[in-house]
Amino acid sequence: MISEPHFPSQQELNDLVRYMGLTKSNAELLTSRLKQWNLLDSSCRCSLSRKRHERFSRYFSVAGSLCFCSNVDNLFEEIGIAHDPKEWRLFIDSSSQSLKCVLLNNGNQYPSIPVGHSVQMREDYKNVKFLLESINYVRYNWQLCGDFKMIGFLKGLQGGYTKHSCFLCLWNSRADTEHYSRKDWPERTFFVPGTQNVKHDPLVDSEKILMPPLHIKLGLVKQFVKAMNKDGDGFQRISALFPFLSEAKKKAGIFTGPQVRLMLQCKELENKMTMREAEAWKAFREVVNFFLGSKRSDDYKVLVNNLMEEYEKLGCCISLKMHYLNSHLDFFSPNMGDVSEEHGERFHQDISDMERRYQGRWSCNMMGDYLWSIIREDFSVHRRKSRKQNHF
Ligand SMILES: [Zn+2]
Repeated sequence: MISEPHFPSQQELNDLVRYMGLTKSNAELLTSRLKQWNLLDSSCRCSLSRKRHERFSRYFSVAGSLCFCSNVDNLFEEIGIAHDPKEWRLFIDSSSQSLKCVLLNNGNQYPSIPVGHSVQMREDYKNVKFLLESINYVRYNWQLCGDFKMIGFLKGLQGGYTKHSCFLCLWNSRADTEHYSRKDWPERTFFVPGTQNVKHDPLVDSEKILMPPLHIKLGLVKQFVKAMNKDGDGFQRISALFPFLSEAKKKAGIFTGPQVRLMLQCKELENKMTMREAEAWKAFREVVNFFLGSKRSDDYKVLVNNLMEEYEKLGCCISLKMHYLNSHLDFFSPNMGDVSEEHGERFHQDISDMERRYQGRWSCNMMGDYLWSIIREDFSVHRRKSRKQNHF
């Protein structure tokens, strides 16, 4: 039996255009041809609602190469969500040539809301300061997350491998011999530029900073792999998992979140390791599952202690990321899964699709269009989702 022809509705057409990643002009060409051939539902308009982005883009401004939200409260009102700054955290993502920031909902019930975007601003203290001023951070005082480099900018610390790189205490990164035996270091009580590796006035209070569990995990894997026997079966098995990754990266233990997840899923891996490696790996897995993810077990302190012991036996060095685990356990948020920086990864993907669509012509319109698309697409989905989500 031949089924009836289906004439796509405006919504189906919009979805198709988005899935295909068409540029605006190509999308319009496709729409007008389909319309000409009478292949669209009569409700479809020829121009793909050119003005739809304006609903949101008017809350954005441009200064230099930064496009930012000039009134977050009003933007939220337009979207239709109440904006309680305590319910949102500011995730700042940066690289050598871009700076992007987005509000993530604690508990992740809502889609991420972009509030600042620049593909030309490099990551440095001055630009992060400018970004925070532009979006009027002092008015909202959200908690913040990002990687450790970003935390360094937020606290005005000197970059690179410095002696006092911890923003909470005066841990001496160079006193290797004391790293495992000593947990308590003098607390940082002041931030004066020119002293204790502080270079600039801090931009935010330390209590506003959220520990980034993803980056702690990556740091733990790095130290673990660096200490592995490179000729052993364990390392060879890891190596075989990532045939396209450079040998140098593998040996330096530089992996991404999804790669670490793959390693944790590989059942065979533990059997290939030496006894000592396997013990440390098991301890790492426990800390990931019962401390750094969405579940925190009652005995998480025991698990973290055990990890430290196993890592010491294996001969791992304590990096800054491990130091936070070793000395500042109380600083970690009790609901890590709800306030992790991992959710920013999704925004990363979404916004790069949008950048491709606009082919570098990023602007207030792009932000408006992006918001329009996520809100239509996501809100129903996000509202249906339960709070329990799988983190890695
Ligand atoms: Zn410290």
